[in-house]
Amino acid sequence: MEKAMFYKKKNGQQVQCQLCPHNCVIKEGSVGICRARKNEQGDLYSLNYGEISSSGVDPVEKKPLYHFYPGSSIMSVGTWGCNFACPFCQNWRISQENPPVREMSPSQVVDLALKKNCRGIAYTYSEPLIWYEFVKDTAELAGEQGLKNILVTNGYINLEPLKELLPLIDAANVDLKSAADRFYLDYCQGQRKPVLESIKLMYTRIHLEITTLVITDLNDNSREMEELFAWIVDELGPEVPLHLSRYYPAYKLDKQQTSLSMMKYLYSRAAEYLQYVYLGNTGLREFNVTSCPNCGAEIIDRSGYRVIKSIEKNSCTECGQEIAGEF
Ligand code: SF4
Repeated sequence: MEKAMFYKKKNGQQVQCQLCPHNCVIKEGSVGICRARKNEQGDLYSLNYGEISSSGVDPVEKKPLYHFYPGSSIMSVGTWGCNFACPFCQNWRISQENPPVREMSPSQVVDLALKKNCRGIAYTYSEPLIWYEFVKDTAELAGEQGLKNILVTNGYINLEPLKELLPLIDAANVDLKSAADRFYLDYCQGQRKPVLESIKLMYTRIHLEITTLVITDLNDNSREMEELFAWIVDELGPEVPLHLSRYYPAYKLDKQQTSLSMMKYLYSRAAEYLQYVYLGNTGLREFNVTSCPNCGAEIIDRSGYRVIKSIEKNSCTECGQEIAGEF
């Protein structure tokens, strides 16, 4: 158990956690909404510090990051707990339950990444932002060793802690679940606006890609989806890669898997707004190719998570057009 950052003491041994927009007021002996931060005698502690529920070496494409050193190996680590409670969570066994864990220190994670010849470390599987202190300590050491640090996150964090973390982070894939406030309130038990604020801040500081899980009947309304695409273009830019991921039944939601025709339709709509759109969980190779937004040349080709062809710097090999990302 490690002393938490970002909280203030309140009357009667209560504390208020200020890490994420829930801003939980926590009684002595209790935990916050994420279950990962506990009030012990008037101080707040991180319960999941150094607790690893899942780890593995993955291609960076699996995060997914398609414009960040394509084809590199990334050490992925995750803990348990989440500040959202989505009924369609694909990782619910670690986000909503108490999985078995093994203890690792930040230096052990970094040593393992180096030993496995990884380009960097991804904090992923469960929500890394509520693992804040461990991510920060590990990212600091990893950066000193020349490793890249990646967040795969829901983006639900207050701006102060995010500002403090971002100098240590190189790239993120943020889950933007919907263009509707109601969707966040009803299905995630959180608010949409702070996620948008986090995304905007990340865009100015690190390499950013966005994932949206397309769920049958819940968020596949084309008007709302177009609002989401338009928001990305208006607030960030058309060069932000967007991964539309196909929903399969998981956890508490048993709606039918999203149809391929809907995925292809939304792809075509998104491509009207954005330069780099990809379809995840579909097995459709032609929707995972990166084409130059200027001349249309196919510059990065992927088969599953394997990179068949890539570029070595951020320009098109045919016409020299700048390609968003780090290569
Ligand atoms: S990080 Fe956890 S304890 Fe802190 S405000 Fe968010 S949900 Fe509550």
